[in-house]
Amino acid sequence: MRSISILGATGSVGASTLDLIAREQDAWRVVALTANGNAAELARLALQFRPEIAVLADETRLPELRELLTGTGIETAGGEAALIEAAARPADLTLAAIVGCAGLAPVMAAIEQGGTVALANKEALVSAGEVLTAAVAKYGATLLPVDSEHNAIFQCLAGNQISQVRKITLTASGGPFRTWSAAQLAAATPAQAVKHPNWDMGAKISVDSATMFNKGLELIEAFHLFPVGLERLSIVVHPQSVVHSMVEYRDGSTLAQLGPSDMRVPIASCLAWPRRMDTPCEPLDLAAMGTLTFEHPDEDRFPATRLARQAAEAGGAIPAVLNAANEVAVAAFLAGRLGFTRIADHVEATLSCYAPAAPSSLAEVLEVDREARSRARELMENA
Ligand code: NAD
Ligand code: MG
Repeated sequence: MRSISILGATGSVGASTLDLIAREQDAWRVVALTANGNAAELARLALQFRPEIAVLADETRLPELRELLTGTGIETAGGEAALIEAAARPADLTLAAIVGCAGLAPVMAAIEQGGTVALANKEALVSAGEVLTAAVAKYGATLLPVDSEHNAIFQCLAGNQISQVRKITLTASGGPFRTWSAAQLAAATPAQAVKHPNWDMGAKISVDSATMFNKGLELIEAFHLFPVGLERLSIVVHPQSVVHSMVEYRDGSTLAQLGPSDMRVPIASCLAWPRRMDTPCEPLDLAAMGTLTFEHPDEDRFPATRLARQAAEAGGAIPAVLNAANEVAVAAFLAGRLGFTRIADHVEATLSCYAPAAPSSLAEVLEVDREARSRARELMENA
């Protein structure tokens, strides 16, 4: 039996993970399940998966969770400190699926206990790349990428030396607005943006896919996970989302990982690593699909990947500022307060208004994140 904690259990990645765990429930002991504020859903999951502890980040919702779980023997807790304490409990595997920089401190807590962390929470790695990878080395933790592209690259690198890599290519679906004109993009609504053609995901990452910030964040994520240098990382748009990414070696061989667009495939690869497990996913039927296409990204209509590449080149605190400004802008867009194409404008404006010093600890990264958010909000109010 292996033990697992799932941070962000009520989300899209959390649900896909628990779906796989439910199919082999005897093989797993659940340590912690966490969520932001949805007490009813967290209680439902806790009753099904019987964790040691269920934690809500939003402390005001704790009484509801307590009431739903009284007499079950499942511990309950609320607030940020409780979330970090739960993430620090020893577990063989921690599935980090909180959305946004809010997941950073819990991810660090999990890394510091030296176990295996399956990371979906890309914003944590974007904001704290150096600090987080240094902690992985210091505490002897293992980082497994859940993000489908990075999981694909991880699989394509297995059995090879990273020094032999000529190029890594991240595939991008292009999102729901891939073929839209600049004028159409300016009028895009939140409802249209969250309707992804291939993947069923949380609202924030769906908007990121529509703006291509998702691919920008993933470029920075890849930069930290696979140290081949930024100039060897490229992006190709592949609307069918079948090829999840590729690694080209010096001899001209390109290895790709293919699969259905179902997050349970990369999640299963992390759950079973270094072995394999069954999933209920529909097998690929390439003949039925017929055609796979590839095209260059259009950075005029979708400037996000250019901004992310520049942020990665600048390094230091700049990727954390990019991420924070994007989180603020996406929240404003989802709330109907910011136009779709203003998201990238807003990130660019925040990046050009100041440049904080490179953070060297978790506390400093969180401070950069806080200040960047407040600058981003200020800019938005004064726009
Ligand atoms: P989601 O919005 O569906 O779920 C997010 C989870 O985080 C929920 O459990 C929520 O309760 C929790 N949460 C939100 N804010 C929090 C806070 N302030 N403190 C503590 N917990 C909080 O998101 P998702 O689509 O599952 O994505 C989760 C992460 O995985 C993101 O970083 C995303 O980029 C990444 N990811 C998702 C997918 C996907 O298919 N959904 C694919 C690749 C990577
Ligand atoms: Mg991805």
